[in-house]
Amino acid sequence: KKIAIAIDGPAAAGKSTIAKLVAQKLNYIYIDTGAMYRSLTLQVIREQIDFHDEGKIVSLLNDLDIELNQNFEVFINKQNITEEIRANDVTNHVSKIASIPAVRDEMVKRQQNLAADRGVVMDGRDIGTRVIPDAEVKIFLIASVEERATRRHDENRKKGIPTDLEKLKKEIENRDRMDSERASSPLKKADDAIEIDTTSLSIEGVLQRILSIVDQ
Ligand code: C5P
Repeated sequence: KKIAIAIDGPAAAGKSTIAKLVAQKLNYIYIDTGAMYRSLTLQVIREQIDFHDEGKIVSLLNDLDIELNQNFEVFINKQNITEEIRANDVTNHVSKIASIPAVRDEMVKRQQNLAADRGVVMDGRDIGTRVIPDAEVKIFLIASVEERATRRHDENRKKGIPTDLEKLKKEIENRDRMDSERASSPLKKADDAIEIDTTSLSIEGVLQRILSIVDQ
């Protein structure tokens, strides 16, 4: 029987890396909900909408077609923006946009539609608490901020993007603080989620733990 798997946790804890592998193993679809908030943020920046103009941002979202395909590509209004949504500018503004309650209501509705048929691995911040509270498996991935920043730093270096480790650490901590302190469905471990600290685990180790939980 196909189930829903919710993977939540703070920024750069390895959620998407793990979620993709779990989905691949089980032949499930993978939904990156952070990519949806990033897509809206990119469009707000492009249209130079004031970050405080909640009304405009919500109506922009209502007209925005966001599509995620199974090659991990992201499209807004049919345009491929997979690379653009990872830009620093988007990363540093997304938490502000994601804190708007009406934005969350609309995103959650879209995400619930995507998960309606089960057979889904969804990663984000509020999947286990709000989007799919009845998910059969809930995972909460954490890692020390040092480890998360170092992983991101190494990823960037491989891509040839120079980054400052201390600055990355600060950005990750800021984003976590905003995501945890917002009023509407904050970043939070669901009571029935299983927490996995990946600080000293390999990707394969985390994958095997989750697959064994799914098998139970
Ligand atoms: O997962 P990722 O780091 O790409 O998410 C980007 C941002 O989108 C998060 O920092 C958070 O502000 C927001 N987000 C959210 N709820 C989710 C997924 C992401 O608020 N379910």
